[in-house]
Amino acid sequence: MGCLIGALAMEHIAVGLVENHRLVDAMRVYPRDASASNTLQIMPAEQIAETICAHVGAAAGGQPIEAVGLGFPGIIRDGIVEESPNLAQMKGFKLESTLSVMLGGKARVRLLNDADAFAAGLAATRGHLEALIRVWTLGSGVGFGRYPTADGVWEGGHIVVSLDPKEKYCGCGGRGHLEGIVGRRAMRLRFLDLEPEEVFANARAGDARCASFVKTWHRALAAATATSVHLDGPGRFFFSGPHARFVDLNMLDRYVQQMVTMSPLQGSAFEHVEANDEIAIIGAAVNAVRSANNLS
Ligand SMILES: [Zn+2]
Repeated sequence: MGCLIGALAMEHIAVGLVENHRLVDAMRVYPRDASASNTLQIMPAEQIAETICAHVGAAAGGQPIEAVGLGFPGIIRDGIVEESPNLAQMKGFKLESTLSVMLGGKARVRLLNDADAFAAGLAATRGHLEALIRVWTLGSGVGFGRYPTADGVWEGGHIVVSLDPKEKYCGCGGRGHLEGIVGRRAMRLRFLDLEPEEVFANARAGDARCASFVKTWHRALAAATATSVHLDGPGRFFFSGPHARFVDLNMLDRYVQQMVTMSPLQGSAFEHVEANDEIAIIGAAVNAVRSANNLS
């Protein structure tokens, strides 16, 4: 039995040794200087894999490695990065098998979406490993994570929540998408004169235009959540990311209740949670073990 490593690659690479759903020692972060945030964006794909590999080796500290889980942003299927808007050079890259070869072929490597890694980490660190966990990550775009990790695309941020053809602010260009209403970029395009923070502050101060939008914003998030409930069943939903603070859980709950009326589908729970690399690393590692054991 070797050791278990969890890793995350986004604006930076973060890697840690995981034991019993906890990090052993501090996680290793590259680049260390947070202001060098475009380092990975300009790095060739092969070199990103080498850098991840070097940090995995360092975290293992000479022990044999049993499994490595890596959370990565974008559409991840069958160990391949099919799409990753912020690290475009990775598109089509067989990251899982490349890492496996670089690590000597013995460690089992599992590549998964970063939001799924975070959902798995929440399940592991809060004792919900038997439960269905979903996470909305609200920022410039909208991420959707699910535990247990399931095959498929799961681009929850692009769930269609409006039939209005004028709703075209999603970063992907698709009409009526959740991200086109609740994403930061979309809000700035909608309110050219106001930052999102000002929109929510003005709504609280009684401005009618902003207050109406804040209701729409919550109804959009509720609609996508209700869609997830109708496809996948009720459960626990977490809200994370820089814009999670805008979520009024009572308002959201009220809208979801209006949208989900069949009694077996009611009773979902909503909670805020701080975004956290450590939890995602633990989740990536947990998933690597589960896939090695064919649990998901
Ligand atoms: Zn979209």
